[in-house]
Amino acid sequence: MKIFDAIALEKRYLEFRESGYDQKWLNFSDFQPYLEKQTLDQEIIGYSFMQLPISKLTIGTGKKRLLIWSQMHGNESTGTRAMMDVLAFLQKPSYLAKHILEAVTIDFIPMLNPDGANVNTRRNAVGIDMNRDFLAKQSIEINVLIDQVQKGQYDVLFNLHDQRTIFNVGTSALPATLSFLAPSYNQAEEVNAVRQHTMGIIQAMNAALQELIPGQVGRYTSEFYPRSTGDNFTLMGFPTVLVEAGHFPNDYERNQTRKYNAIAMLSALETIATGGPLPFQGYEEIPQNGQRFLDIIIRNVTIQGKENSTKTDLGIYFEEEYCPTSNSVQRIGYVNEIGDLQSLLGHLDLDGTHLTYRDGLTNIPYLGMEANFTVGSWTLIKGHLTT
Ligand SMILES: [Zn+2]
Repeated sequence: MKIFDAIALEKRYLEFRESGYDQKWLNFSDFQPYLEKQTLDQEIIGYSFMQLPISKLTIGTGKKRLLIWSQMHGNESTGTRAMMDVLAFLQKPSYLAKHILEAVTIDFIPMLNPDGANVNTRRNAVGIDMNRDFLAKQSIEINVLIDQVQKGQYDVLFNLHDQRTIFNVGTSALPATLSFLAPSYNQAEEVNAVRQHTMGIIQAMNAALQELIPGQVGRYTSEFYPRSTGDNFTLMGFPTVLVEAGHFPNDYERNQTRKYNAIAMLSALETIATGGPLPFQGYEEIPQNGQRFLDIIIRNVTIQGKENSTKTDLGIYFEEEYCPTSNSVQRIGYVNEIGDLQSLLGHLDLDGTHLTYRDGLTNIPYLGMEANFTVGSWTLIKGHLTT
């Protein structure tokens, strides 16, 4: 019998998906009810700068010990939500769940940066990017993580993130829906047994994903980042799998990505539970992430000035901005490229041949301007683009 079947898991996904949590923005107060109803063992392992608890959930009875953390960057919730689905799957009776839980014990820190989560920022409350703070240890939260790793005697670590919408796979026109990295431990980017172990786990995750979203898996370059979390844990001897959840077409809340992230995590858990030497040689054949996407491209727009007119392409990138007065997050487009964008792709790619931009505030569009005009059902740049 095949223990792991990605296609069957996708078919059954709604049976084990944790209901709700459908928005990409996941803050502490929205997350709290999940912890309160969760029946797994849990422990508060520290507090954030703003004194919010950082919790750890534990499942499984096996000898192999794993630590998984998410939302080290507060605005990156897809890994958290995928792990909710994974834990829901493991808590329902199945052969795969039993196989995993007998072999591994999983500690999961679901929101390492609750202060950042509350205001939808990457950084912590004092503005530190925890993923560049391993050496200086100026953020309270990175110390909570490092302490946990040092006392947990872990065999494998998983560092769950979200990546921006700009990434494609290799030179293709497909988005990098999931990307991975087996982080380096030195400038020479050498491959030792620790990295090989990480690469083998990523191979298993990639194999599952290729069955579901062929061509939509990328790999980060193994450039060594001396201040980064994964690089330093690898240096300390811990295989550390970096998972970057990315864009799936028309899925800005990342619920499709969440599903694929969850199934990829189950594939990793099954591989670790089954054990044996993991094949790692194909890792380098996963195409690298390219940067070909913008959220919207409008091509061949006529720019009408007072004396001159010209045609150009406008590229728009979405920022997810937290508004304190309404305590909400809005996706706002900004003009981020102007000129020849033939080599780039838009998640929404529009022909603007029939469109003329005239009489904006400065008569012409400029980099960084808010893009709130209307094309079809899309609101892009205020008022000044007409047919
Ligand atoms: Zn991140």
